[in-house]
Amino acid sequence: MKQADVVIVGGSAAGIAAGITVKRHNKEASVLLLRREQKVPVPCGIPYVFGTLGSIDKNLIPDTPLLNTGIEIVIREATSVDRASKVLTTSEGETIGYGKLILATGSDPISPPLPGKELVNVFSVPKSADYIAEMQLALDEAKDIVIIGGGFIGVEVADESNKIGGKNVTIIEVQPHCLPMALDEDLCIQAESILTDRGIRIVTGNRVCSIQGNGKVAAVELQSGEKLKADVVIVAIGTASNTELARKMNLNIGEQGGIWVDEYMRTSDENIFAIGDCAEKRCFFTQKASGVRLGSIATAEARIAGANSFGLKRKNEGTISVFATVVGNLAFAAAGLTEKAAREAGFDIVVGEASAPDKHPGSMPSTTELKGKLIFAKDSGVLLGGQVVGGTSTGEMANVIAVLISNRRTADQVATLQMGTHPVLTASPVSYQLVNAAEMALCQM
Ligand SMILES: Cc1cc2nc3c(=O)[nH]c(=O)nc-3n(C[C@H](O)[C@H](O)[C@H](O)COP(=O)(O)OP(=O)(O)OC[C@H]3O[C@@H](n4cnc5c(N)ncnc54)[C@H](O)[C@@H]3O)c2cc1C
Repeated sequence: MKQADVVIVGGSAAGIAAGITVKRHNKEASVLLLRREQKVPVPCGIPYVFGTLGSIDKNLIPDTPLLNTGIEIVIREATSVDRASKVLTTSEGETIGYGKLILATGSDPISPPLPGKELVNVFSVPKSADYIAEMQLALDEAKDIVIIGGGFIGVEVADESNKIGGKNVTIIEVQPHCLPMALDEDLCIQAESILTDRGIRIVTGNRVCSIQGNGKVAAVELQSGEKLKADVVIVAIGTASNTELARKMNLNIGEQGGIWVDEYMRTSDENIFAIGDCAEKRCFFTQKASGVRLGSIATAEARIAGANSFGLKRKNEGTISVFATVVGNLAFAAAGLTEKAAREAGFDIVVGEASAPDKHPGSMPSTTELKGKLIFAKDSGVLLGGQVVGGTSTGEMANVIAVLISNRRTADQVATLQMGTHPVLTASPVSYQLVNAAEMALCQM
């Protein structure tokens, strides 16, 4: 029987970051990582395989960082765990003993109960290299592509499929707008108008009620009665935590269907941690169960569990969702609560906005207008969230907002932020968007 101080189940974002963290904190520890697949795709890069990258082989996570750190990789599925004897069994019947076990079993796409979903060329977006390669072939040959779900995965897959050229791409979204969970309405509308300008049809406030075809998909029928031709249908309506193994082990499951964890990322068994998409999240602001699942959150949790595997060192203060995407040539990013989510969480809010060129003077080559919006709690002045739209600095700007949120900064503190600026790299110090957005909010407090 193999034996390791720390055994990790799952070899994607969370599993990899946990393994490396364990070794950073405990050089001598033996770490064994078990995963089902030979090749691990970069999950967030999957939409870009269909257009920008052009091949799944350009979107794989190398094993070298793990192997160089001395982590043993075993390509097997973990099928059961005997918690009393601390022994895991694989699909091939091998047994592996552990000191601590870290579950990083991730999530799978939600499959809706739609008639016709079993037809050929109906896909979801799982994190499987072979499946994505097969999907790419079908997309290349297709003329009419229907994407069910206008969240960021649906939007990115639509924009990238459209880049292949010669396709009719349609997004069907049940909500009034695409990207409704991540952005406030004004930015959703801006993103939609870019998609429309690029030739993508968007149908909102409507749902697919059946997928039709004879063996192979040919059409989808909407609730409104409209029928759309479809050579390929992609279902991108969200993900659900993969808790199969945890349920077999009788670990507690949370309200949102993830494996229950405490602030140290320990499950209901203190020798077992759970991290990433398979683990239940708690909102940073309200401490209520949260359904947000992102790679950035997965790796942050992994760094907590990895450091805690030989003694409790790090705590999870709650999940801050930090999201970014690119639609056409414009980037959209958000951190923390949207206006809508803040109001739903019971906050009385004040919003400040500021827009300025992302270089100075604005005549610098490749300058893009960057708009920032910050959302503060009216009574305390504490920053709850922010959204940014603009060029390539947008993603990092959202990260700055996330740092300010996690430090519970107030509007006054953001307005007096000490930042660095440079003509080629940032907005001018006079018009720095986050600072001015905070000032605009303060004027209303
Ligand atoms: C198309 C797409 C785009 C995305 N874009 C972004 C983005 O831009 N930014 C962002 O932050 N997030 C993004 N995400 C979300 C992000 O990919 C996930 O949050 C992240 O992959 C979670 O990592 P994880 O390691 O927890 O789980 P997963 O990536 O789901 O990995 C789970 C791993 O566990 C393995 N496993 C499961 N059960 C077993 C078992 N019993 N035995 C052995 N192995 C097992 C799986 O095979 C897999 O290797 C995107 C997701 C998708 C699908």
